[in-house]
Amino acid sequence: MMSNNANTNTGILIRFDDIAPNMNWEMMDKCQELLDHYNLKPVMGVIPDNQDIELLKYPKRENFWETVKKWKSSDWSIAMHGYNHLYDKETNKEDFFNYGGKSEFFGHSYEDQLFKIKRGLEVFKKNNIQIDTFFAPNHTYDKNTFKALKDSGILKIIDGYGLMPYTSNGIQFVPQLFYKLYLLPFGIQSTQIHINYWADKDFINFKKFIEKNHNKVIKADLAFSKISNNYINKIVNVTLKKLLKLKRFIF
Ligand SMILES: [Zn+2]
Repeated sequence: MMSNNANTNTGILIRFDDIAPNMNWEMMDKCQELLDHYNLKPVMGVIPDNQDIELLKYPKRENFWETVKKWKSSDWSIAMHGYNHLYDKETNKEDFFNYGGKSEFFGHSYEDQLFKIKRGLEVFKKNNIQIDTFFAPNHTYDKNTFKALKDSGILKIIDGYGLMPYTSNGIQFVPQLFYKLYLLPFGIQSTQIHINYWADKDFINFKKFIEKNHNKVIKADLAFSKISNNYINKIVNVTLKKLLKLKRFIF
């Protein structure tokens, strides 16, 4: 199934956000069953030390890290999604992607951001999970985030604008364009999936999307292998950024 996609430039990465001991496990288990049925390998955005009060309201899985390790051993990708998922800065749209909203990383000093990333990595290391991919809570980054990530050996981010994966600030990006499940006819991007907010109808939509598009779903390492920094791709990505800044909230 995967090899069918190896030579194409169309594909979608399934990115789950807000993976933590407390979450909507009932929904997660349903998603896992669906993904396993099609042998699809998502990327799981794990919060290494979740302290987000909204997320802590969900039921806790006691053997959480065993579950993460099982995912990893069945070839799912594990990424670091922030450190504790607490927002304490306002971006005023000055963040790298100009999305705006609240931030865990943007606006903090390099030292503070490095500290959070290192602490996060220690949690993964303690659980024997190697991390080379990151995405920040609420998509908010600044130059210090990129520097702190690079200085911690994390060179991959799943976020931001673009039709194809690209390199910027010495970091590889797989773009994440839409809030809703949406597959463009060309390009390689990531979804973002927040199952904690899902009702049954959202799972049904996801199921339909997977049934229809499962042969377009690719793994994280294949997505990153599609990095293209050629001139045309750069122009397309910049143009798309301008368009989507206007359109983003419609999708
Ligand atoms: Zn999040």
